[in-house]
Amino acid sequence: MEQVEQDPDFVTLSRQFKAIAMELISILEQKQKTGGRIKVLLETLPFHKLADIFVASFEISFEEQLCMLDSVDPKVRLSKATELVDRHLQSIRVAEKITQKVEGQLSKSQKEYLLRQQMRAIKEELGDNDDDEDDLASLERKMQNAGMPSNIWKHAQRELRRLKKMQPQQPGYNSSRVYLDLLADLPWQKASEEQEMDLKAAKDHLDCDHYGLVKIKQRIFEYLAVRKLKPDARGPVLCFVGPPGVGKTSLASSIAAALGRKFIRISLGGVKDEADIRGHRRTYIGSMPGRLIDGLKRVGVCNPVMLLDEIDKTGSDVRGDPASALLEVLDPEQNKSFNDHYLNVPFDLSKVIFVATANRMQPIPPPLLDRMEVIELPGYTAEEKLRIAMQHLIPRVLDQHGLSSAFLQIPEDMVKLVIQRYTREAGVRNLERNLAALARAAAVRVVEREQAVSVSKDVHKITSPLLDNRLAEGAEMEMEVIPIGVNNHEISNAFRIASPLVVDEAMLEKILGPPRFDDREAADRVATPGVSVGLVWTAFGGEVQFVEATSVVGNGELHLTGQLGDVIKESAQIALTWVRARVADLKLAAAEETDLLQGKDIHIHFPAGAVPKDGPSAGVTLVTALVSLFSQKNVRADTAMTGEMTLRGLVLPVGGVKDKVLAAHRYGIKRVILPERNLKDLVEVPAAVLSSLEILVAKRMEDVLEHAFDGGCPWRQHQHSKL
Ligand code: ADP
Repeated sequence: MEQVEQDPDFVTLSRQFKAIAMELISILEQKQKTGGRIKVLLETLPFHKLADIFVASFEISFEEQLCMLDSVDPKVRLSKATELVDRHLQSIRVAEKITQKVEGQLSKSQKEYLLRQQMRAIKEELGDNDDDEDDLASLERKMQNAGMPSNIWKHAQRELRRLKKMQPQQPGYNSSRVYLDLLADLPWQKASEEQEMDLKAAKDHLDCDHYGLVKIKQRIFEYLAVRKLKPDARGPVLCFVGPPGVGKTSLASSIAAALGRKFIRISLGGVKDEADIRGHRRTYIGSMPGRLIDGLKRVGVCNPVMLLDEIDKTGSDVRGDPASALLEVLDPEQNKSFNDHYLNVPFDLSKVIFVATANRMQPIPPPLLDRMEVIELPGYTAEEKLRIAMQHLIPRVLDQHGLSSAFLQIPEDMVKLVIQRYTREAGVRNLERNLAALARAAAVRVVEREQAVSVSKDVHKITSPLLDNRLAEGAEMEMEVIPIGVNNHEISNAFRIASPLVVDEAMLEKILGPPRFDDREAADRVATPGVSVGLVWTAFGGEVQFVEATSVVGNGELHLTGQLGDVIKESAQIALTWVRARVADLKLAAAEETDLLQGKDIHIHFPAGAVPKDGPSAGVTLVTALVSLFSQKNVRADTAMTGEMTLRGLVLPVGGVKDKVLAAHRYGIKRVILPERNLKDLVEVPAAVLSSLEILVAKRMEDVLEHAFDGGCPWRQHQHSKL
C-alpha cells in the first residue's frame, strides 16, 4: 500500500474519486441527513477502503460485484469505483432534472389558478359584473325558453352543470358552450303559425309565379288540398326532376308561400360525406352539426318547407353514404327521432315538409327514389319561353336593375331572337341572364343620360361613350354601374324628356355579341357523308348529338373517340357488325362476301369531345352514320333520331323521349325518328311542338335508314326474306 500511495497515478485517481464522492454526498445530504457521517468517513479512511465501502453500498449487478472483487490492484479498484460513483451521480442528476420540470409546470397552473381567484375577488370587491357568470345565466335562460322535451332538457342541464364547473380557458369549454348554444337555438317546438289555407289564393299564387306547367301545378294543388283536409298528413315527398332553370326551386318556394311556411334550401350537390347530413361526433375537433340541423337552426321554426336541392348529386365514398342518411330523413316513421351525431339527442323532423329537386332520376339510389313522388319538368318550348320572358322574366329583370318599361322596352320579336340565337337550353336561366345583360346596358345609358341632360338635350341617341367602351371591350363583360349621387327621382326627371330605349337587332348584337346558334348548324355539319344527327339525354335536358364516322387506310380496326362509356362503345361494335353483315342487302358492296373493312380502319367520333357520353340510345345513329359513310350518301339534315339497336337490327325503346323531342324542336329539326314503343311517351310533349315536327316510327333498323336518307333507303329489298 505504501508503495502505491506514492504512485502519482494513484494520487490523481484518489483526488478524482474524492471529488466525485463529495459531490454525491452533498447531493444526498440535501435529501437525507445521513450524509454527515459518510463525510467524516471520507476524511478519515484511506481511499482504497473508501472505494470498497462506497461500492458495497450501491445496487450494482452481480457481474460488476465480481469484477470489483477480481481487481486486486488498488489503482484498478479505485478507478472502477470512481466510474460507479460517477454513474450513480449522473442518474441522480437526471432524475432531479425531471422532477424539477414537472414541479415547474404544476406550479405554473397553480399560479394561474391563484391569480384568477384573486382577479375574481378583486372584481367582486369592485362590484364588477362577472362576464362569464352572466353569459352562462343568459344561456340558461335561453335554454329554458327553447321548449326542449323533458329528456333533452335533462341532458342539456347536465351539460350546463359541467360547463359551469369549467374554467373558460380550459380546453373543451368552448365546444361545450357552442353545443349548448345550438341546443338552445334549435326550434324544438317553435313553429310558424299555419294559417287557414286559402286554396284559391294558393292556386292564384302558383299561377301568378309560374307560366304554363299546368299538370305540375295541378299536382301541387292536389297536394295542398290534401294538406288542408288533413294538416298532419304524411304526404309523399315531392321530387321535381328536370334540367336546370325550369323552375324547380321556384316551385318549391311557391309551395312554402302557399302554405304560409318558411322556406329553406339545403344544397346537397357534391355531398359525399355522411357527416354532412348527420354531423360529426363531438369528440372530433371542429365537429359540426349536419346540414339539416344547421338549416333548422337558421330557419328557426320546426315546420319549414325544406328543399333538398340536387339530391341526385350526392355521391358515396369511404366517408359513408349520404343517401342512406337521407333515407332516414325522408322516412316518416323514422324521422320523428332523427339522430344527428353532433346533437347526440333525437330531433323530431316529422313536421318539416320536404321537397327535393334533381336533374336526373337515374343517379338517385332506388330506395331513396321509392320514398319520393317524382314530378318531371321536361323543359320549355320556344313559345313557352317567350311567354315566360314577357310575363315574368322581363318585369323581374327590370325591377332588379332599378328600371321600368319607361326606360327599357324589349319587344317580343327581340325576345324571340334572344331565344333562338343566344340560348339553346331547356330552362330559362340563360335567357334571364341575357335579358339582364340588356338591362345593364340600359342602366348605363340611363345614368349617362342623366349626367348629360344639363349639357345636351340630344337624349334620343342610343349610344353613349360608356356603353360604347363596354361594347368595344367585349360583349360578355360583367359590369356593375352604381350611380353615385343619383337618386331615382333625378333619373326619372332626366328621363321624362327622353323616350324609352327600345331594343333592336343591332343593339342585340352590340350587347350580346354575334349570334351563338343558328338553324343552319345541322345542315352544315351533315354536309358530308358519314355524319348523322342523334338525340341524347343529359343533365341539362335533351341535346342534339352529331356522330361522325370516317375511314382511313388500316387493317380493319374500329377507333372510338369523344369520352365514351362502355355501353356506347359496345353500341358502336354492334352497329359496325350489323352493317358488315348486311353489305349486300344494303348494296354497300357488290358481293356479299366483300369485307367493308378490307384495308381500312373505321374511326367514329362524338363531337363535344370533352363531355363524357354513355348509354345505348345512340345505336341507330351509329348505324346511320356508318351506312352513310360506306354508301357515300348524305343523311338528311332535318332528321334526328334516337333508339337502341339489337344485333339483329330491332329498334328498342329508350328513355327521355320528351326531352329529346323538345331538344330537336329547339335545334330547328323537322323530323324525328323514334322507336315504335316510344310513341306512348309523346303524350307528354306539348301539342305545339308535336305539330311542328314530323314523327317517324321505326321498328327495325331498316325503317330508320328508310327515313334518314333522302328518297328513302334505296337498298331495302330483301329485308323480309333475309331478316
Ligand atoms: P331550377 O331550380 O329548376 O334550376 P329555378 O327555379 O331556379 O330553376 O328557375 C330559374 C328561373 O327561371 C327563376 O327565376 C324562375 O322564376 C324562372 N322560371 C322558371 N320557370 C318559370 C315559369 N314557368 N314561369 C315563370 N318563371 C319561371
